[in-house]
Amino acid sequence: MPELPEVETVVRGLSPLLLNRRLTRVTARRPDLRWPLPDDLAQRLSGATVTALHRRAKYGLMETDRGDTLIFHLGMSGKFHQLAAEPGAHDHVLFVLDDLTLAYNDHRRFGSMHLTPTPEAARHPLLARLGPEPLSEAFSPQSLAASAKNRATSIKALILDQQTVAGIGNIYACEALFQARIDPTQSAGTLKPKQLAALVEALKATLAGAIEAGGSTLRDHAQVSGDLGYFQHSFQVYGREGQPCPMCGGPVRRRVQGGRSTFDCPLCQR
Ligand SMILES: [Zn+2]
Repeated sequence: MPELPEVETVVRGLSPLLLNRRLTRVTARRPDLRWPLPDDLAQRLSGATVTALHRRAKYGLMETDRGDTLIFHLGMSGKFHQLAAEPGAHDHVLFVLDDLTLAYNDHRRFGSMHLTPTPEAARHPLLARLGPEPLSEAFSPQSLAASAKNRATSIKALILDQQTVAGIGNIYACEALFQARIDPTQSAGTLKPKQLAALVEALKATLAGAIEAGGSTLRDHAQVSGDLGYFQHSFQVYGREGQPCPMCGGPVRRRVQGGRSTFDCPLCQR
C-alpha cells in the first residue's frame, strides 16, 4: 500500500515525463475507480499542458494551464507506467502525449481522481482538513505537543490522525515510534516533551530516508521497467513479527490497535 514516500516518488517520477508537456488526449476506460471519475475528465485534460506536479499528504496534484488541478490518490495498488503496447485490463486512465502514453493502472481500484479549479484545490474536501506536512517546519515538537495536550488517545492514533500531521500511514507510524522508543499504546497526553521531539525527528527521518530510497530506485529501475510505482523498503519492525529487534535482539511483537496491526519491541519501547 503506497504511503507518503511512494507518492512522493511517483510524483518525482512523473515530473520529467509530464511537466510542461501537452496532454494530447486523456481517456478514462471505465467510469469509476473507488469513486466515480469526473464526467468531464477527458474534456478538461485533453489538450491541456501540465504546469506543476506536487504532493500533499498521500495525494498527487497535477496542475494544468487551463486552471485545473487533478487530485489523484493511489489507493492500495495504483501506479503509473509507460505503455509499450495496447492497454491492459487494469490500465484505467490513459494520458497520451505525442511521444509516450502513460497509463494509470490499479487492479484493486481503491485509487481516485478528482478535478478542481486550482485556486480552490486547498479547500477541496479531500485536502481542506489536512494538518501540516510532516517534512515541513509547520510540523514540529511544538505542533505535536499542542495536538497531544490532554489527549487520552494513543500516540499512534494521534499521529495517524490526518489533522495532527498529514500523510502518516500505519507503516511509518510503527517505524517512527520504534525509532523514538515510544510505546504505541501510550496515551498521547502523557508523553514528555523530549519524547514528542524524538518522535517528530523520527517521523521526518524515516520519511526522508524512504523518499531517498525511492529516488535511487527510480534512477535504477524506471527506465528499465517503465514502472513508476513501488519499491521494497526494509523496515525495522513493520511486518517483522517474531523476528529479532534490530536494537535489542528480542522478538518484534504484533498487536491489533484500532483495527490495524501495530509492530513494536516490548523491551525497547516503553
Ligand atoms: Zn528491542
